[in-house]
Amino acid sequence: MRKKLKMLITVDTEQKGMAVPYAIECDFGVEGNCGINYIMEQLEKRKMRGVFFTNVYEHNNYHGDWEKYMEKLVERIFSRNHEVELHTHANPPVFPNMLHACSYDEQKEIIEYGTNFIKEITGKRPIAHRGGGIPAMILHLRHYMI
Ligand SMILES: [Zn+2]
Repeated sequence: MRKKLKMLITVDTEQKGMAVPYAIECDFGVEGNCGINYIMEQLEKRKMRGVFFTNVYEHNNYHGDWEKYMEKLVERIFSRNHEVELHTHANPPVFPNMLHACSYDEQKEIIEYGTNFIKEITGKRPIAHRGGGIPAMILHLRHYMI
């Protein structure tokens, strides 16, 4: 009897403070890309879905040609039947401090902001969270157990 291999492929989807999403798209024009579209294509070719932990707090960083980039990115991932989950990195002015430096109420507000952002676009509340560059905290976990 063959055993079925189960694996979870997760992707941090973030740019970190820049106004152009170079790290997310990794688009080199005619030379191809190795960014989010490539990752989704590779997963889809194998009939797999990815879990994209998306730092939606960056949404205010994008203007001009990139206006509403984060909203469109969440929609792009979700419309291709991949999961959009929440990733938190401090990103002023929406979220100026590292999550572990915030009080329970501040953490709750930050997480609700991010989950609502995703839910408004997908209609689904995220069920997973990945803290960016910070250790998990009991305060933080408590929020999800309520
Ligand atoms: Zn990250």
